[in-house]
This record gives sequence, structure tokens and C-alpha cells, in this order.
Amino acid sequence: MDAQFQPLDSGKFRDPFTTAKGDARATVALRSLDTLWFNTGTLCNLTCRNCYIESSPRNDLLAYLTREDVREYLDEIARDGLPTRLIGFTGGEPFMNRDIIGMLHDVLSRGFDALVLTNAMKPMRKLRPQLLELHNVYGARLRIRVSLDHHVPEVHETERGRRTWAPTIDGLLWLARSGFAIDVAGRRFSGEPEADLRAGFARLFAELGLPIDAMDPVRLMLFPEMDVQRDVPEITTACWGILHKSPDDVMCASARMVVKRKGADAPAVLACTLLAYDRQFELGRTLAEAARPVSLNHPYCASFCVLGGAACSR
Ligand code: SF4
Ligand code: SF4
Repeated sequence: MDAQFQPLDSGKFRDPFTTAKGDARATVALRSLDTLWFNTGTLCNLTCRNCYIESSPRNDLLAYLTREDVREYLDEIARDGLPTRLIGFTGGEPFMNRDIIGMLHDVLSRGFDALVLTNAMKPMRKLRPQLLELHNVYGARLRIRVSLDHHVPEVHETERGRRTWAPTIDGLLWLARSGFAIDVAGRRFSGEPEADLRAGFARLFAELGLPIDAMDPVRLMLFPEMDVQRDVPEITTACWGILHKSPDDVMCASARMVVKRKGADAPAVLACTLLAYDRQFELGRTLAEAARPVSLNHPYCASFCVLGGAACSR
């Protein structure tokens, strides 16, 4: 069974409308579809220890999207005049999808910005000439975010496996020297204070000559670990006021993600990038159908998006 399906054994996160204590569960309305993500497929060249989507060279639960699948959603954005500016590609490893260059061409030529999340290893290396062509035409409108879990090679390889450091550094250097707009995504699993992590990455970027400001939370994103078994409070409608947070600030207020499940006839639109396997977050076939509010009925909604380390007293 997939980890994302396993419920906490506490009666929590069972009913989409009501919490275990009988309170009204919080929902998030789609404020505006600023970003549309495409999960190009869960297959990956790596099997990282704690991949949030459990990608590997064998996990094809999310099948490869095709260029035609993506075009259909770009057409819907144009037809309905949606405000979408950014198209993101995630996986798995997006550069393993044979249509990725065509998809990027379609996205960029229609005036969207594009962001690709990658481990910058062999699948990307094979596409260097095609990526350079895109970069030469579209410049910084094509951004590449490279996953580098930690600034110390041995710690990075604890998560990603042996011999994963050097190829990723090689890919990062190639991107930087070729002038691509690049960001780095790190992880917080080492438990160090954020300031120490950023200082370590800053030293590494300086040594490598990478033009990335490690103190900028967008240029260097540091993601918390996701643990579906950790007991977290449920989010009620009262929590927003208690925590002084706005529902507009969580990802599902401004984004959706398109996936194609293995064996499915057509793609589907999910609430966000974080909950790929839980069917209650599958909102519809089209962007119009998926524009409805999202009920925050998963531990990730609490731990990753709303609480972020704070505690709601309810
Ligand atoms: S490289 Fe990314 S998608 Fe692939 S297994 Fe690692 S964390 Fe998951
Ligand atoms: S995990 Fe929950 S709160 Fe966070 S973006 Fe996804 S649906 Fe929204």
C-alpha cells in the first residue's frame, strides 16, 4: 500500500467536512490559477529514501503525459482566459518523458514561463542540445530547479544513493555555465537549523562559482520532511484566525496539478503537487471542473501547508 493512502489510526482525517472532534473542516477556494503543474510521470532514474511521491525506476503509477495531453490544458487556459503565468513540470524525473522538449516548446511559445524540477543527472544530460536551443530562444523564461538535498556530498548520498552527487554537480555547473536560470531545492532531513544549512550551501555555491544566493528562499528552497504517520492537529475553519493565516496562502489557492494515472483513459486535475495518490484530491477532468474548493482532509494539509511548525489550539 502506498504511504499516502495509510490513514492515521486516530479517527482524524476521515470525513471531508467534519473533524474527529466534530468541528467544521477548513476548505480552500481557488483564488486564481496562477500556476499549473504537470506531473510528467512517476518513473525516475533514482530511488530516493524519502521521495514524497515514491518515484523509482519501477513506479509508473502516474504514467507519462503526452504533448497532446498538455496541449489540451493549455488550450483550456486560452479558451477560458485563465490568469495562469507559470507552467511547472515535476515527476519522477521530467527529462525521462520523451515529449518533454515538445511540451516545453508549446508552453514557452504560448508565452508562459516554464519551471522544470530535475535531479540534473543522465536524463537531462542526454537533452543538452535541445535544452540549449530552448534557452537560446526563451532565455530566463525557462527555469530549472535542481534537487541537491544537502551541501555535503555524503549527506546528499544518504538520501539519494551512492554516486548521485557528482553527476548532479556536473549538471548544475553545465546549466550555470550555459546561462540557464537555475534554482536549487534542498531538504531539511539533517535536522540542522536553517541558518546553518543556508550557510553550508552558500559555501558550496561560492566554491563552485554558482550564481545562486543561498539566503534567498526562492533561489534555494529548503523543504521539510513529510511524514504521513506523524500525529498532527486537524485544520478547522477557526484555525485561520487562531494562526493568523489566510487560506489564500496555501498552494491549492493558486495552483493545480495534472496527472495521468496508470491505465486511465485521460488525465485528471489534482488539488496540488503533494497528494498524487489520494483520490479525494482528484477534482475533475478539466481545469473548470477542478476549480472547486479543496477540503483540507489530509495530514499533509496540516503539517506541510497550514501549521508549518506552529500549533493550532483546537
Ligand atoms: S530524484 Fe526526485 S522524483 Fe526521483 S526519487 Fe528522488 S526525490 Fe523522487
Ligand atoms: S496538501 Fe492540502 S492544503 Fe496543501 S496544497 Fe495540497 S490540498 Fe492544499
